[in-house]
Amino acid sequence: MPTAALSVPGGGPPSPASPAGEPARQPAPVRGQPAPVRGQPPRHLADLDPAERRAAAEELGQHGFRADQLSRHYFGRLTDDPAAMTDLPAGARAELAAALLPRLLTAERELACDQGMTRKTLWRAADGAYVESVLMRYPDRVTMCVSSQAGCGMGCPFCATGQAGLTRNLSAAEIVAQVVAGARALAGGAVPGGPGRISNVVFMGMGEPLANYSRVVAAVRRLADPVPGGLGISRRGITVSTVGLVPAIERLASEGASVRLAVSLHAPDDELRDELVPVNRRWKVAEVLAAAWAYAGLTGRRVSIEYALIRDINDQAWRADALAALLAGQPAHVNLIPLNPTPGSRWTASRPRDMREFEARLAVRGIPVSVRDTRGTQIDGACGQLAASGRAHG
Ligand code: SAH
Ligand code: SF4
Repeated sequence: MPTAALSVPGGGPPSPASPAGEPARQPAPVRGQPAPVRGQPPRHLADLDPAERRAAAEELGQHGFRADQLSRHYFGRLTDDPAAMTDLPAGARAELAAALLPRLLTAERELACDQGMTRKTLWRAADGAYVESVLMRYPDRVTMCVSSQAGCGMGCPFCATGQAGLTRNLSAAEIVAQVVAGARALAGGAVPGGPGRISNVVFMGMGEPLANYSRVVAAVRRLADPVPGGLGISRRGITVSTVGLVPAIERLASEGASVRLAVSLHAPDDELRDELVPVNRRWKVAEVLAAAWAYAGLTGRRVSIEYALIRDINDQAWRADALAALLAGQPAHVNLIPLNPTPGSRWTASRPRDMREFEARLAVRGIPVSVRDTRGTQIDGACGQLAASGRAHG
């Protein structure tokens, strides 16, 4: 399988790679066509709440309720094709769809593995930016892993996305569009196992969701609101994964987002975390965990602690004990993830016996812990990475 073509091999989350495996950048202009201009995407109804959508329809000289009809098509029937919108006057369809349902993402490439149960899509946005999403079907649920930014500015040295830096924030509608596409594939029977629905969404693709706060929160609203406001996915099934931007975690808590929180810790001590997760220089382990426990207290849901096991870097027995001491008695569940090595990196995944030892040391102290097996490793490391991220959030 031409696996490495989709992204930088290994080093998930999904990498900002072009199909040629190069970092995301402005595509070469096609002869006769202007080069795409990097910038914010066009407005889409999924950027707007229902009242704003009605106002937008009225600005076009249409009845406000036309916006609800459009929303039912997009979120309920999962279509943005004006020809299918037979309840709208023929003359108004194209104009409404052009104004409120512009095509935001084009599937550049799709790869499947696990007998079609894992499907990864490389998307090209209107300005040429690349992002990735992954759909993972399990017997009891379907999880979509989505990107919140093209690239990421957090600079974690073990992460392929971090290496390339931030291209731009995605709009709320660009985030939602990844889920709508997955929902459409499922509803249409394109995923083996018969027609289905998305039950879970994890913000574990490219980007730091809390660095794109307002758009991510708007996207969560669209995902959770029932049709025609949005897709009607339970907030319990939505997980935002963060590197630990403390004020944003506090804001998410105070605004009652009610989504699940995952914190990418990767080290129990500030000395190592300063290196693995550079934003730790700003918000230390103790501050990040205090914000996480406060969040758990408000939502009544355990926080996932993500820990990528890196051979001889953060996988020592004493670090397992230190992590256990930090988490004892707290509403946490640890997800241990074997590192997906990034190309050229000296770091690699921990030895199996070290992983087992690390896990056992947490378990014996009563800390809920799982080692994620990876799905989709055939498609490439990033997919495996994402698949891993989806596993623990059922
Ligand atoms: N920026 C957010 C969410 C996207 S990253 C965050 O960092 O939490 C999703 C998860 O993949 C994070 O837990 C991140 O630490 C992890 N990850 C990134 N690169 C990885 C790699 N090479 N191997 C294993 N896990 C990785
Ligand atoms: Fe990668 Fe770190 Fe950005 Fe998460 S925060 S996507 S791990 S660079």
